[in-house]
Amino acid sequence: NGNALNSRAPLKVAIIGGGLVGSLAALSFARRGHEVHLYEYREDIRRAELVQGRSINLALSQRGRKALAEVGLEQEVLATAIPMRGRMLHDIKGNRTVVIYDPCTNQCLYSVGRKYLNEVLLNAGEKFPNIHRHFEHKLNYVNFNEGRMEFKRAPSKEIVEDNADLIVGCDGAFSTVRQQMVRAPGFNYSQEYIEHGYLELCIPAKDGEFQMPENYLHIWPRDEFMMIALPNQDKSFTVTLSMPFKVFKTIRSSEDLLNFFHKYYADAVPLIGKERLIKDFFKSRPQHLVSVKCYPYHYGSKALILGDAAHAMVPYYGQGLNAGMEDCTLLLSLFNQPNLSTAEILEQFTELRWRDAHAICDLAMYNYVEMRDLTKRLSFRWRKWLDTQLFRWFPNFWVPLYNSVSFTSMPYSQCIANRKWQDKLLQNVLISASLAFVAMTAFKYYGGFQTITL
Ligand code: FAD
Repeated sequence: NGNALNSRAPLKVAIIGGGLVGSLAALSFARRGHEVHLYEYREDIRRAELVQGRSINLALSQRGRKALAEVGLEQEVLATAIPMRGRMLHDIKGNRTVVIYDPCTNQCLYSVGRKYLNEVLLNAGEKFPNIHRHFEHKLNYVNFNEGRMEFKRAPSKEIVEDNADLIVGCDGAFSTVRQQMVRAPGFNYSQEYIEHGYLELCIPAKDGEFQMPENYLHIWPRDEFMMIALPNQDKSFTVTLSMPFKVFKTIRSSEDLLNFFHKYYADAVPLIGKERLIKDFFKSRPQHLVSVKCYPYHYGSKALILGDAAHAMVPYYGQGLNAGMEDCTLLLSLFNQPNLSTAEILEQFTELRWRDAHAICDLAMYNYVEMRDLTKRLSFRWRKWLDTQLFRWFPNFWVPLYNSVSFTSMPYSQCIANRKWQDKLLQNVLISASLAFVAMTAFKYYGGFQTITL
């Protein structure tokens, strides 16, 4: 019983945004007995036929799983998720190579449908009479000091006001709550758009079956750009094509598109199908990707931002959602400490979180290069092999970067620090081995020569 966990006076909490992080946060607060008002701009996703939004499916890993376990939903979500045990790399000739994520302990990523996950979270909230849902309410304005909010209702455009003890902004990368925080003195904020955009395509099921092995995250690395594919429940794959906008712009006709695909992704053409490729490619425009860093995440005892509102990142580490869900784990663990006031909890949240949130934004940028370029290189595969062997022999000492990010709850900044000392150690070993080799060679030739002349 979540209520038993709460020993503080219940607050009236307004959660802005009923996406994945907002619906999880609503559930987490409600389980502790707080009165929750969940405000969402869109209609109830459970009734929506067409869901506008980003990425049809997502890779769920340890941090997201842990947060779901805390609200009793991990097993329900995993029951329909598709395990992805490694990367399947498609080279330009169509050859496929598998790189298993974790050959030592067999941990894997899970492909989950965004809509399905959102539905599970919203449905779980139905059991709590202390969650009040307000769909089609768009936050327009907040006064943090007074805890007052103003919403515009759709479709009537009627203005609705409400107030709350605590306002939690889970309203995504372009957060209105954050926009209002930016005006507060001492609030630091930066955003970076990358020059690459993404567009989603589909490899449909054939004769009711997957057209490629389903237990992998498929990657077509092509230096400056790449394509990835994640499996869906209906045996299709959602394909994400990422490349610079300037390359997208060169593809103006069906002929350009087919030429481009035959050159770079020839093995994917029969899987997607020419007609479908043309239809899906020209149906939508490539989407922008933004990375957001800010500090602090709170305003006094009145407001806080979580998830993409606090730290949107490019999607290449598959950690945006996982990090957002981990925010909820941290926040609610602070709410479990009876001696802390709300202001102290929010302050501690910022202090405990910002380094890690900034770290994962940086790692996500780095991983784009790794996925589209480095995975192809022999040096990458050699390092991966070495990391795996060392992890196998010393599992408590040598945790490779990807494993620590995806399969543990190690703070993200610690994951980077680990990688740095691992790199340094390997560099020193390499230098020592090279010196030893040079010394031995010298000894063999010059040492031997001296023996003869002496
Ligand atoms: P959002 O999902 O953006 O939800 C915000 C909600 O707030 C929305 O429902 C919106 O309608 C609502 N809202 C916005 N403004 C207002 C307002 N003014 N008033 C009321 N409501 C409002 N992450 C992973 O962990 N793994 C992956 O594999 C992965 N793949 C991705 C692939 C792509 C292509 C992209 C773009 C992202 C990917 N991510 C992934 C990141 C992940 O999608 C986000 O981190 C996650 O959706 C963040 O959840 P959120 O609830 O914070 O924000």
